Amino acid sequence: MRTTVSSERNRDLPASYPFEPTSTIKSLFKESGTMSKLINCPGCGASVPDLPGLPHKYIGATMGCWEIYTQILAKEYGEFRYPEHTHRMTVDTYAVQHPGQPGRQSIQSVNGHLLSLHFLIDRGMTGKEATAAFSRVLRNADSLTWLTPPVPNGTLTVLDVVIAPTLDEHTKLVESWANNVWEAWSPHHATIRKLADQFMR
Ligand SMILES: [Zn+2]
Repeated sequence: MRTTVSSERNRDLPASYPFEPTSTIKSLFKESGTMSKLINCPGCGASVPDLPGLPHKYIGATMGCWEIYTQILAKEYGEFRYPEHTHRMTVDTYAVQHPGQPGRQSIQSVNGHLLSLHFLIDRGMTGKEATAAFSRVLRNADSLTWLTPPVPNGTLTVLDVVIAPTLDEHTKLVESWANNVWEAWSPHHATIRKLADQFMR
């Protein structure tokens, strides 16, 4: 029987990614009970296990989605030995895809992580350089505004990324995910580039 994980994955990924879901994600879905207990994450839209609790103060994710995200982070810190550039992309993409509700912290988070994606994707910076650059911009920006999230907020999600069995494949999937979400935010690219230009000359 096809699981929701693989059907979600196959919907958006090219046939060159014939991966099966990892055992961890399969067990997460099993623990959550039947497939009827899946819900759509309000951030990324992924169909995820309906787990109790709220994972974060201002990141707008469900616990089921957050659990899958933490599995991705665990792989990056563990078996993949901290691929800096890819890890930066993972954190930025997840935050941008889960903007939450308008508020001081969420506005700072979305602007900061969009700036970081801009530095990584458009300016070819390393993870370290992007972190330093967006931190500098945020420190010096007079005011940041709430950027209305796109609908949909990208079409690839953590479900498409957590399946990667090797670092090489993980890197490709994270890049696809990051580019997919960055493109979804194209109505705000000019705002982000302008913000970056003010402090990056
Ligand atoms: Zn989500």
